[in-house]
Amino acid sequence: MPDATVLSSHVKFVIIGAGVHGLSTAYHLALELQAAGKGSGRDILIIDKSRVAAGASGIACGVVRNNYFQPAMRELMAECVAVWESDPAAYHYHPVGYMQLSPEAMHADVASIAQQQREIGYDSVFIEGAADSSRYMKGIFGDWQAKGITSVLHEKKGGYANNRASMEGLAGKARALGVRIVDGVKVVGFRTGSNSGAVTGVDTTVGPVSCDCIVVGAGPWVPEVWKMLDLPRTIDVRAPDGKLHRDIPTWTYWCLEEGTLGVAPNLGLTNDGKMPPVVHVDTDEPLYSDVTGNLITDEMWGIYYKPDFNFNGIQGGGMPYRIDKPADKVAVDPYGVESKEFVTGPAFREMWCSALAFCQKRYEGKIAQWKQEPSGGIGAFTPDSFPVFDRFRETVYVIADSNHGYKMIGVGKLVAQELMGAPSRLLEPFRMSRFANGKLHPTSHSPFPWS
Ligand SMILES: Cc1cc2nc3c(=O)[nH]c(=O)nc-3n(C[C@H](O)[C@H](O)[C@H](O)COP(=O)(O)OP(=O)(O)OC[C@H]3O[C@@H](n4cnc5c(N)ncnc54)[C@H](O)[C@@H]3O)c2cc1C
Repeated sequence: MPDATVLSSHVKFVIIGAGVHGLSTAYHLALELQAAGKGSGRDILIIDKSRVAAGASGIACGVVRNNYFQPAMRELMAECVAVWESDPAAYHYHPVGYMQLSPEAMHADVASIAQQQREIGYDSVFIEGAADSSRYMKGIFGDWQAKGITSVLHEKKGGYANNRASMEGLAGKARALGVRIVDGVKVVGFRTGSNSGAVTGVDTTVGPVSCDCIVVGAGPWVPEVWKMLDLPRTIDVRAPDGKLHRDIPTWTYWCLEEGTLGVAPNLGLTNDGKMPPVVHVDTDEPLYSDVTGNLITDEMWGIYYKPDFNFNGIQGGGMPYRIDKPADKVAVDPYGVESKEFVTGPAFREMWCSALAFCQKRYEGKIAQWKQEPSGGIGAFTPDSFPVFDRFRETVYVIADSNHGYKMIGVGKLVAQELMGAPSRLLEPFRMSRFANGKLHPTSHSPFPWS
């Protein structure tokens, strides 16, 4: 158990959380301080109640993509992909690409994404029409058999990274610049100045630390930190049609369901024996059980998957479900695979394995090889399900990514620039004021809350 000697009495920057956002902010801030001759990584202290990658970043399936209907997300993601590409070895990044396969109901949305990708020079191919989509997919996987697909957006960049290994890589880069990461210490409150509401430090389980600035990268625990900051439990949200919706919960939890089919990852290779792109399929075709033949759903559904040597199988997930409880009643701890309440169960297994078989013949009859190990986890979502990157109480910068975040390794770089006084155009659409001003991000026809 650590004691107060692990902390300094004062440091310029305290960062709460050693997940992707806390670590990326620390690493990039250390670079910025050094380049500007204004300090170094030794001015930065990361405090984590557990350890590096103990939160969502350590259990994420690790998909890195650009495919978002919201223009502001696309530009931000292009920036993030560039950070992944900057050091693939340290980040354990696999640039295999990403494919979005969609039914007619999503065709126009995805066409506009493809158009915007062309405009910003993000390398992708867009295939339209059922016959051409099927031909394109059979060119990659000879056993492709999904029905009801009328477009394929094939992003040539992006792919996936290995969750824990990438966070250890990022932590190593931050430590090499002098950043200190203190494990096993929890921030339990904030200190304020005598004449203002500005936060001047944190209280922790082993004592106080005063600081000039705080960055919150608390992932699924952000509602708890939000409460410590005395920020509102509910907010008024103006819809794009001008209507004001009062007292909307600031945070809602969703559970992300994922798992692994324990076959040799090589089973997922392409016709020419290469690692394939990450495949995301949405469709409105009925889905029948690969076990019983019974109907599983006749509503729009979606899955994503990839062969992955890190998980040692075919790994992926499906649509999350909303947790029907107020945020302060949801048990966030124990988190992730240690949770008894929020891990994937047999219904997900049958749906996901049947969906794999719907897509590719090679996965028919393979459900017995599902890995019987806990997987999945929960995430805190904002009222429009998109991130909030903003300052509160004058000195506190909150990075609340609304569960889009493993791929968002570049956000910490932009936040670091903002902390050094250079406002970021890319982060501007994600301020808290958008809820009051009706500047919400547009919604797509995807069955996922995050696309
Ligand atoms: C099952 C699952 C799969 C996902 N898959 C993907 C994916 O494929 N691609 C993608 O882009 N995103 C994915 N996500 C979302 C992504 O993982 C998260 O958005 C992202 O990791 C959040 O990063 P973070 O740094 O904000 O938080 P986290 O990684 O959760 O880190 C927060 C850290 O803060 C610490 N902490 C919390 N409170 C305190 C406190 N009071 N004091 C001290 N320390 C504290 C925690 O111990 C933790 O280590 C997935 C999420 C889940 C749950």
